[in-house]
Amino acid sequence: MTKTWNFGAGPAVMPKSVLIKAQKELVDYKGTGMSVMELSHRSKEFDDIINTAEANLRKLMNIPSNYKVLFLQGGATTQFSSVFLNLVGDDLSRPCDYMVSGGWSDKAAAEAKKLGANVNYVFNTKSEGFTRIPPKSEWKLSPNASYLYFCDNETVHGVEFQEVPEVNCPIVCDMSSNILSRPVDVSKFDLIMAGAQKNIGPAGLTIVIIKEDLIGTRLNPKVPCPILLNYKTHANNRSLYNTPPTFGIYMAGLVFEWLLSIGGVEAISAINSRKAQRLYSTINKFSNTYKAVVAEDCRSRMNVPFRVIDASGKPSKELEAEFLKGAVARHMVQLKGHRSVGGIRASIYNAMSEEGVEYLCRYMEEFARQKAK
Ligand code: PLP
Repeated sequence: MTKTWNFGAGPAVMPKSVLIKAQKELVDYKGTGMSVMELSHRSKEFDDIINTAEANLRKLMNIPSNYKVLFLQGGATTQFSSVFLNLVGDDLSRPCDYMVSGGWSDKAAAEAKKLGANVNYVFNTKSEGFTRIPPKSEWKLSPNASYLYFCDNETVHGVEFQEVPEVNCPIVCDMSSNILSRPVDVSKFDLIMAGAQKNIGPAGLTIVIIKEDLIGTRLNPKVPCPILLNYKTHANNRSLYNTPPTFGIYMAGLVFEWLLSIGGVEAISAINSRKAQRLYSTINKFSNTYKAVVAEDCRSRMNVPFRVIDASGKPSKELEAEFLKGAVARHMVQLKGHRSVGGIRASIYNAMSEEGVEYLCRYMEEFARQKAK
């Protein structure tokens, strides 16, 4: 099999050992004579799968006992609606605070607005191309917000928060693209949500970690919450109200086991730091060829966007095309930046090895030296 290095932003590369185990159990799950995909979600076997997955996620993230873990469908995008519908509270005119630091938080705010939220932009860096997180002195927080929403790591723009904002309302965080990449103090959040397809498992599974006192207590009859978007439905039924994404949950469970086996979130965080450091320092070292796009204090450790520049220092689409062509020839794929921003983006999630990042950096060095000739 050809070794391919997948730097895609998602669905992302999976740990090989996980795929090998899943391959075996795809045909016969633990001697049941059935594929893991065929198991009933009401069976004892599946009960073990979902319970173990939850217990291991709790262990990995040190999730306090007053938080529920929900395994849902619908992707992180569905959560853009669920968050508002579940947390709006009885006064519709109360502001919902949104920090817009990239394309995903922008979409989340727009969706809440569409559903009737009185959205207050704490900041919105869209006009600057989403390249920085403004300092606290520029934040416009509401004194009485229903909740504060932010996206911890903006996948498209490569902007990552380095700390949890301190506010006196419930904090909602989209961690789709950096969950489990570094230790976080869950107790600082009221709701964490994440699409699985970066650091957790296959697309189709969405994880919500929510403080119990927010479940079913802040609904508003004026904006009815569909039964499947209501966190109470899932919390009361252990995520088994309807058919959950069983295969995704099984795969997530394998990824959690893998992560625990290599030393948990602390261990992967150290690896992720080294990977990001290696890549950003290559960009800096060859600053005649590459340019990082995002302000240094909020550069993502998961998604690294950069431009290939010409002799005058301007981003060059031709050079970027050449760079990408050379990468593909060396079996490095999905390095093209998101269609809305262009350039190059290397996504280096948990399952991307240091070897893969080293391979990319060596190519970047070679490409830069070639250009300098
Ligand atoms: N939020 C972030 C940070 C993302 O990266 C994505 C998708 O990549 C989404 C939300 C939307 O997720 P989904 O495609 O699962 O709806």
